[in-house]
Amino acid sequence: MSQYDVVVIGGGAAGLSGALVLSRAHRTVLVVDAGSPRNAPAAHMHGYLSRDGMPPAELLAAGRDEVNSYGGEIVDGTVTDLVADGHGFLALLAGGQRISARRVLVTTGLRDELPDIPGLRERWARDVLHCPYCHGYEVSDHQLGVIGGTPGAVRYAHIVRQWTHDLTYFTPPDILTTAPRSQLLARGIGVVEGTIDQLVIDDADELRGVQLRDGCVIPVDALFVPPRFIPNSALLVGLGCDVDVDGWVTVATTGRTSVPGVWAAGNIVDPRAQVITAAGAGSAAAVALNADLVEEDVRNAVRDLDHGFALAPTANSHQESA
Ligand SMILES: Cc1cc2nc3c(=O)[nH]c(=O)nc-3n(C[C@H](O)[C@H](O)[C@H](O)COP(=O)(O)OP(=O)(O)OC[C@H]3O[C@@H](n4cnc5c(N)ncnc54)[C@H](O)[C@@H]3O)c2cc1C
Repeated sequence: MSQYDVVVIGGGAAGLSGALVLSRAHRTVLVVDAGSPRNAPAAHMHGYLSRDGMPPAELLAAGRDEVNSYGGEIVDGTVTDLVADGHGFLALLAGGQRISARRVLVTTGLRDELPDIPGLRERWARDVLHCPYCHGYEVSDHQLGVIGGTPGAVRYAHIVRQWTHDLTYFTPPDILTTAPRSQLLARGIGVVEGTIDQLVIDDADELRGVQLRDGCVIPVDALFVPPRFIPNSALLVGLGCDVDVDGWVTVATTGRTSVPGVWAAGNIVDPRAQVITAAGAGSAAAVALNADLVEEDVRNAVRDLDHGFALAPTANSHQESA
């Protein structure tokens, strides 16, 4: 069984960033990554200072190289179970491999659950989008739509309005109340009430509109959809980490969970984190996690000293003579 200071579960922006900091701090680090970062379907990544427009896979490939260059190890695989063993943690991989580590950084991201509309999932990250900050600029001033009807969808539509003057808010019949309807109309956002039947795609494989059950087609070039975010947090929940009322694992600003030795960063604990935010959170967690390891190193050194196993004094150490 392999033994590491830290096992990082998930090799997206958060995990690789954490692994980079830890490997540069001379920690033995293993990243286990299932290889499905959330933005993989997108052709380009936006909003990451100095890397704007880069394909998402390129950023991660560069990150993997950087981690490897400092001795950090990366394996492709899925952690299926994570248990505390009294000294640290045991991570079990799908292939049966067991990894032992003193600390764990979990950065397994989240899943986007989309409304059940025929054809929607197939066009995800092409002309069905969710994050205007990521892909809104590229469809500025186009005919855009927002799929409404869920809590927060009206507010989301007002944000998308920032990118276009031609916006339609689609909502199921009879649920839009007077105040939000007035707000939408006041900002020139069209309201269409009805049940969506399907998306209309042209021969060039481009989105052309939204077809309602009554056959009416409302033209759109791109649709914004607020997904339901589902954290990939089964490993953390299985360890007993505290969760909030919505089921999200709670962490301190450093990424520390309620279970000693277990840290989490990125979309798994923060659905709003973009790539740069996830990378920053992974880095911050690694700094705090290393400090936690140093505290343990100090405790172990003092214990060894008490048992007569002190490290040899270094050239700089100084002892006062009696
Ligand atoms: C379509 C789309 C486009 C986006 N575009 C942008 C953009 O342009 N700019 C931007 O800033 N943000 C964008 N985002 C958001 C971006 O995807 C996230 O901010 C970012 O991926 C979060 O990084 P993360 O490391 O937390 O999670 P992820 O990148 O999702 O990485 C998690 C990793 O953990 C792995 N994993 C999960 N479970 C396990 C397990 N049990 N064992 C091992 N590995 C596991 C996954 O396979 C994955 O590789 C986009 C999101 C979507 C959905």
